[in-house]
Amino acid sequence: MIYTARGAIHKGELGVTLGHEHIKWETDEFWANSMYFDKKYQVENIETDMKHIIPIMLDIKARGGKSIVETSPPIGGQNVRLLKVLSEQTDMHIIPCTGWNMTKQLYEVFPDHFEEQLANRWIKDFKEGLGCIDGIVIRPGHIKLLLDKGALSSVDKAMLIAAVRASKETSLPIHCHILEAEMVHEVIQVLNGVNADYNKFLWAHADRDANRETVELAAKKGMWIGIDNIRKGTSAQKFELLSYIISLNYGHKVLLSQDYDFYSEGKESMDHHPCTSIFDEFIPYCVANGMNRQEIIRIMTENPANFYDVDAI
Ligand SMILES: [Zn+2]
Repeated sequence: MIYTARGAIHKGELGVTLGHEHIKWETDEFWANSMYFDKKYQVENIETDMKHIIPIMLDIKARGGKSIVETSPPIGGQNVRLLKVLSEQTDMHIIPCTGWNMTKQLYEVFPDHFEEQLANRWIKDFKEGLGCIDGIVIRPGHIKLLLDKGALSSVDKAMLIAAVRASKETSLPIHCHILEAEMVHEVIQVLNGVNADYNKFLWAHADRDANRETVELAAKKGMWIGIDNIRKGTSAQKFELLSYIISLNYGHKVLLSQDYDFYSEGKESMDHHPCTSIFDEFIPYCVANGMNRQEIIRIMTENPANFYDVDAI
């Protein structure tokens, strides 16, 4: 099953999916915490947020998109009440997440049993739901981590270990933001150390520092690879990476997306937003350069359906 803001769906229902987007990033951590921990959602904000986000989602839908993966973690203000209403009003699927949910400095205060306690919280989010809204229990469909740049910090290492524990218990996939290819080597060491299932691990933003040797290593390990910054004006570069991955016979484990923030783009302009660039620019560019359109649609449909599919609980 795939867990969405309207409940569980069968993987065959997912359709064409943007595998890494942000519905609305909330920078106010107090407000983000009160949504995640206290389940308090300000209804009046939801009304105005919807006005900016719904037209963008409908533009995506008009081009054949059916599902969006929300990658704002709890501390980024993921608002499951908003996700549910958006999903209902557009008849699109949105896959929420659990994951990074607190200031990382807390690790300095509570290093003992950190991994275990964090994993337990994420497991609880899955088993009990992130929230129960209008009688629907909304469960996370993935575990979202954001690793900082530079050498892998102790807290990021602990978060990775916690995510693997929670993933083993729940079967949820791990969606891991890594901006520098060099870090992937350190991440692999940690994952090997806890006997992680690479089929449950996504290197998100692999296209930000598209080092071919590291991409090949990631493919050898069996991890999923995110080409998820397919933004306006980037088609040539992203096409080249996708072609390379397909040449490795690894096209079945790539997730494609744009990494836009729908709320802020919609607020800026609802008529000239870039949130459909993948359909308007990238796919036509790939087709003009010899790629089969059906193959790209298959990548955007079957791959996320396989990655986000979680054994029923
Ligand atoms: Zn992102």
